[in-house]
Amino acid sequence: MVSRALVWLRNDLRLGDNPALDAALARGGTVTAIYIHEKDTAQRLPGGAAQWWLEQSLSFFAQQLAKAGVELLVQTGESKDLLPKIAKDLKPEVVFWNRRYAPSERECDAHIKAELRQSGFTVTSFSGNLLLEPWQVETGSGGPYQVFTPFARALRQKGVPAPLRLRESKANTSSASQDTYKRPAQPHWAEKMAGLWDIGEEAGYGHFHDFLDETVKTYAESRDIPGKHGTSKLSPYLRFGEVSVRQLWHGALHYGEQHTSLSSGIEKFLSELIWRDFHYHQLYHRKDITRYDMRDAISHIEWHDNSTAFDAWTKGQTGFPIVDAGMRQLWATGWMHNRVRMLVASLLTKNLLIDWRRGEEWFWDTLVDADIASNPGSWQWVAGCGMDAAPYFRVFNPVVQGERFDAKGTYIRQWVPELANMPDKWIHKPFDAPEDIREKAGVTLGTNYPQPIVDLKSSSHRARSSKNADHNDLFA
Ligand code: FAD
Repeated sequence: MVSRALVWLRNDLRLGDNPALDAALARGGTVTAIYIHEKDTAQRLPGGAAQWWLEQSLSFFAQQLAKAGVELLVQTGESKDLLPKIAKDLKPEVVFWNRRYAPSERECDAHIKAELRQSGFTVTSFSGNLLLEPWQVETGSGGPYQVFTPFARALRQKGVPAPLRLRESKANTSSASQDTYKRPAQPHWAEKMAGLWDIGEEAGYGHFHDFLDETVKTYAESRDIPGKHGTSKLSPYLRFGEVSVRQLWHGALHYGEQHTSLSSGIEKFLSELIWRDFHYHQLYHRKDITRYDMRDAISHIEWHDNSTAFDAWTKGQTGFPIVDAGMRQLWATGWMHNRVRMLVASLLTKNLLIDWRRGEEWFWDTLVDADIASNPGSWQWVAGCGMDAAPYFRVFNPVVQGERFDAKGTYIRQWVPELANMPDKWIHKPFDAPEDIREKAGVTLGTNYPQPIVDLKSSSHRARSSKNADHNDLFA
């Protein structure tokens, strides 16, 4: 009888440097992969935009797997019911997967592992989604890190394992069909995103190589300029594991060794990859970071349940151009520039006093890169309760930030066309512009572009002094 391996895919939809898949292929015999659209309510299910990406990704990956002789099964249900059932049906000798790190995911995986082992299957989990496992980097006293810089230093000292070489598949091809996965019809709203992204492993590495060849030389500075294509845009590929973070790490290091003039861009890029691991480190070590503040720094804040302001924020109608541009970029493309993510999150949590969890959930639903660690970790960072966060009284001023990072208003003109004819000097503060300037630019506040929904000065002051009892007076 031909031996069989079952690989449970989760956030690792790639052939290259996929330890669980590699171990299965190394055995020879038949390899079956399974992806489960989880319905277990204890798990955080993908939001709308991520679900859209996932469907395309599965469809591409099914074809790649078929070429490697691996059949992909896609099922919907609760993993703890489905996986043991599939294992009993297929009778593999081994079941492999790459680890995931949220407390609920670990609990689910531990439960399934125990049940499968009890039924006589060999089950092995691998490290495939991070630079290092969260427990491999620890402080001198053996605990988790709270501050990024020593975490980054410790991670670099340990060193990132080299990625696996792509294996020539020895899998038995008989059961693999080229047409294993039929993706469901796209929701109407997703049509707008279809032409914007090319999805899958090959596309992801294509972007990485373009990034190294074209963007990394200016990355250290231009990564903060939202009107430029100054970053890698690899986040959704990393989110679904279409590219391996270790491959990116070693690829960038190697490129940097060959092109020493690029060292500042390469270093910055590596540091951003470590930020991703830092958020996973917190996800692993702390209580559910999507719900609970990591630090008790903002518990005095009374969140304001202002649905009108929240709606205006989601629609890019706050009256603050850079915030509106970001929220509209998010809605149109499923992605937002990092600097602008910080600004929109600051306006929501500090000026509007809306709970960071509401913003985090909106991002979770609308980002194609919505990540179980980086999204709550970054929201908490901006709100002031995350690890190594800016203090809660540091409030970004969207006008000053806009003038600094989008001096000519390039980003605003792209995403807020109502303001396209405003002169550079006023484009970030149309509300302060003289009436005749607005008129000339065709801007009528309150008609074709909103008045600011909150008084920036007094709401920032309130956040700094954290007296929020009189907040109702501040909203326009
Ligand atoms: P690049 O600048 O090219 O960076 C390369 C990679 O490094 C990114 O793809 C990402 O994996 C990682 N990285 C970069 N910056 C960060 C960071 N600050 N924290 C963690 N990892 C980082 N990132 C997500 O991947 N998913 C999220 O859901 C997410 N939500 C965020 C929410 C808020 C409020 C904020 C302020 C940031 C969030 N980020 C999130 C982090 C960051 O904005 C994105 O990773 C980055 O914009 C992705 O674009 P890029 O791939 O071009 O980044």
